[in-house]
Amino acid sequence: MLKERNEIPKEDKWNVEALYPSYEAWEKDLLNLENKEGEFHFSKVERFKGVLGENPKNIASVLQISLAIERRLQKLYTYAHLRHDEDVANDLYKKAHIRITTLLYEFKRVSCWIEPELLQIPEKTFQKYIQDKELEPYRTLLEKLFRLKPHTLSSQEEKLVALADEAMQASQRAFSAFNNADLKFPNVANEKGETCELSHGKYLVYLRGTDRVLRENAYKTLHKSFESYENTICELISGEIQSHVFSMRSRSYDSCLQTALFPQQIDTSVYTSLIQTVRQNLPSLHRYMQLRKHILGYKSLHMFDLHVPLVKEVDMSMDYKAAEQLVIDSVLPLGAEYQKSLEKGLKEDRWVDRYENLRKRSGAYSSGCYDSSPYILMNFHGTFQDVLTLAHEAGHSMHSLLSDRNQPFQYAQYPIFLAEVASTFNEELLLNHLLTKIESKEQRCYLLNQKIEDLRSTFFRQTMFAEFELKLHTWSEQGVAITPTLLKSEYRKINLEYFGPDVVIDQETDIEWARIPHFYYNFYVYQYATGISAAHAFYEMVKKDPKNASEKYLQFLKSGSSDYPLEILKKAGVDMCSQGPTKMLIQYFDSLVAQLGKEVNF
Ligand SMILES: [Zn+2]
Repeated sequence: MLKERNEIPKEDKWNVEALYPSYEAWEKDLLNLENKEGEFHFSKVERFKGVLGENPKNIASVLQISLAIERRLQKLYTYAHLRHDEDVANDLYKKAHIRITTLLYEFKRVSCWIEPELLQIPEKTFQKYIQDKELEPYRTLLEKLFRLKPHTLSSQEEKLVALADEAMQASQRAFSAFNNADLKFPNVANEKGETCELSHGKYLVYLRGTDRVLRENAYKTLHKSFESYENTICELISGEIQSHVFSMRSRSYDSCLQTALFPQQIDTSVYTSLIQTVRQNLPSLHRYMQLRKHILGYKSLHMFDLHVPLVKEVDMSMDYKAAEQLVIDSVLPLGAEYQKSLEKGLKEDRWVDRYENLRKRSGAYSSGCYDSSPYILMNFHGTFQDVLTLAHEAGHSMHSLLSDRNQPFQYAQYPIFLAEVASTFNEELLLNHLLTKIESKEQRCYLLNQKIEDLRSTFFRQTMFAEFELKLHTWSEQGVAITPTLLKSEYRKINLEYFGPDVVIDQETDIEWARIPHFYYNFYVYQYATGISAAHAFYEMVKKDPKNASEKYLQFLKSGSSDYPLEILKKAGVDMCSQGPTKMLIQYFDSLVAQLGKEVNF
């Protein structure tokens, strides 16, 4: 039976009191912000409207005050969202959450003129200004902003674009509503002929289960359901892509890909060379499919056979204390200081909200702000997946902690391109730490299988999506009509190439694109593949040269957003503009497949 929140012992809950000792203290801080005479009142920003171009001092002042307000807003927001997630039905925190979210939007509205006004300063003047001592703390920030000038419109045009923004997101919202609320699936039968309910959540459970009849039925039924809406979904995807084409054309970019990658100074070649490297190495994935077919002992391997574990479920469950200790032990290669920090955070400082309680938010995340410690939400049940999740979130948390401690507020938050590097890196530390410890063949095979599947789904599958996503955009840019027939035939082609001769691409697979929410994310998914590649490159470096490489890796964790993401990685020794990291990851995948093959005499 799940407990009420107040029945959970204090030591198992995160220490939100360290952020604000009470709701009253939080509210007092909030009122401070709303108070016209208060230090952080929004009107302090508006005072500078129209005078930014006059001198560097005005620019420094407006940045200083708006960053200070933002920092305070984040602190208030963090408290409200953590409390809200503890019990999503708690009225007090629900209201607090809405109140602070409204304020955040209001501040966005109040301060949205700053960037366009800065960009109107003539180039020469701007270059002179940013050399001024007053602007030194903001130089990188301003340089990053000014780089966007050629793609920024006049203030009137920018206002229009901003007004259209919400309408442009209609396709994404419509798909989400359709997929999460409206779409229902028929029941399916299992091997005993019993009726089983089908839902998004259950689909994954069935596909990982050993009942092959149920797997096939679930796979085919789910995809057929999507197929019966193929025209609608095709229009939604087209609409989404058209909004990206609109951004590209209105802001004078060469392609949608460039539009998405330019702000973080990521060259489009990073994206295309990822696809190219994977393409050149598809035989690696094919070999794994061959091994999968062999181990499962099927005459033909179908798409619905891809998720079922290759080895019998091994009990690797443990309690929270054991998991915590394992995660702490596994980070030793990063040095005693890193390890001590993490240990203190997990144990003494109570970063983690460990267990489920009634009405607690599901899933897991690492959160926090500049003025708080990291906070990890979990619903720990003791499965091996939960242990990996703790390692993953602890990786995010340490990244935040080190960036916050070593960067000023304006450069502390790391970009998405870097986020999953730190978390994946710690998962890899944990897994390899475990592989050296365990003795039984079953456990070793289980872990190998876990890691191989992780790489297949995070690296190969996401790259395949990235390739399809690029195709969609290129067609739209060229004015090719996007129809269900075109999408289905191209999706089939790409699947045939990726999975190779040992997998039967069932007819239902042709429609899979229709159920992937990521095709509405605007060139997001490739970052899963680059993230895991960078993480593995770091791992190899640390393994070879623990002292120097871990120093460099820590430097990366301390960098926040003080530079562009590719530059930060490069300084730490990982060059994502080269094919090195992706090639190394594929070699690693090959070696894991070979190890598992050896274990099963393949
Ligand atoms: Zn993550």
